[in-house]
Amino acid sequence: MTFHTLLRSLPSAVLAALLAAGCNRAEPVHNSRFLAFGTLNDVSIVGVPRERAQTAVAALEADFQAMHQAWHAWEPGPLGRTNRLLAEGVRFAAPPSVLTLVERSKALAERSEYLFDPAIGRLIDLWGFHRDPLDCGPPPPPEAIQKLVTAHPSMADIEVDGIFLRSRNPMVQLDFGAIGKGYGIDLAVNHLRELGIENAIVNSGGDLRAIGSRGGHPWRIAIRSPSGSGTLGFINIAGDESVFTSGDYERFCLHEGRRYHHIIDPRTGHPARGTRSVTVIHDNATEADAAATALFVAGPNDWHRIARRMGIRYVLLVDENDVFHMNPAMAERIHLLDPRKYRVKLSPPLFERPPRP
Ligand code: ADP
Ligand code: MG
Repeated sequence: MTFHTLLRSLPSAVLAALLAAGCNRAEPVHNSRFLAFGTLNDVSIVGVPRERAQTAVAALEADFQAMHQAWHAWEPGPLGRTNRLLAEGVRFAAPPSVLTLVERSKALAERSEYLFDPAIGRLIDLWGFHRDPLDCGPPPPPEAIQKLVTAHPSMADIEVDGIFLRSRNPMVQLDFGAIGKGYGIDLAVNHLRELGIENAIVNSGGDLRAIGSRGGHPWRIAIRSPSGSGTLGFINIAGDESVFTSGDYERFCLHEGRRYHHIIDPRTGHPARGTRSVTVIHDNATEADAAATALFVAGPNDWHRIARRMGIRYVLLVDENDVFHMNPAMAERIHLLDPRKYRVKLSPPLFERPPRP
């Protein structure tokens, strides 16, 4: 995700909200929408009176605005200060809002073989993907990219000692664009539960976590088409699951007929090749967000290994030739609107299933 573009995910957000709204009459769904994190956020709540749903949405909106402020890599604030001190190589007490994300990101980066690595903020900066609106020109000079790739900034360079941080690599710069939205949605769901809400969807620009059900029926979630507009199918969710998609359509520049998108392969310093979109279902949004980015970078050849390392059980990866790579459990869950239209390549299972009784 990025915090900077307004309304970029409008079609998918609208779709998910519409699908969520198609519910049974006995239990009204309260749908609300607000702008935060640079995108549209839709919250659907079932099973409580309207006033309580409204109070809860107002609380979430305040949470999201505060998180945006805390994690914005390019504006003054806790993350800006953290990045300055990391570059200086000094030991410092981390702001609480940043510390947890650093700890989570270190663990997830390691599990992703550093394909997801929020320490590559300087590369994101170099490509200009933080600018709002995007200011598209030629790609950065190859020497500048190579210099950063050689310096190899990584989450592994950050030492965490209690609440203290220190970077061993002056090129480390944190950018939580690939995990902040997921973590924010997890916090939002915790907040809803504290307010006694057990059935809801928190949807931020098309990425979401759903809890409970809609009046006893599963939530029906639209899966974005890899083109970024429209839907290719849906899945049902009951209980507690997150659905996250990373796509090359989210934020990109066209230059001399080539598309340069915002998901960077830390090994090359260039936009990752071979993938159009990745959709992940997982039980929490933070890991789903990091994994969607990591699997996008991993691409059609390596996604399966990285998904296993990250403990992800449901993956759909659409490659640059429009082949749909899925594990068997995902194939069982996803209802494609027009299955004949797609070429599906089933992978070996991602996890052992218990034998049927
Ligand atoms: P979205 O939800 O916008 O489709 P992602 O969750 O994949 O996208 O996050 C993309 C954002 O994450 C980029 O805009 C950039 O800020 C940051 N980013 C890009 N590549 C990586 C990477 N390999 N690891 C971690 N963060 C990345
Ligand atoms: Mg992500």
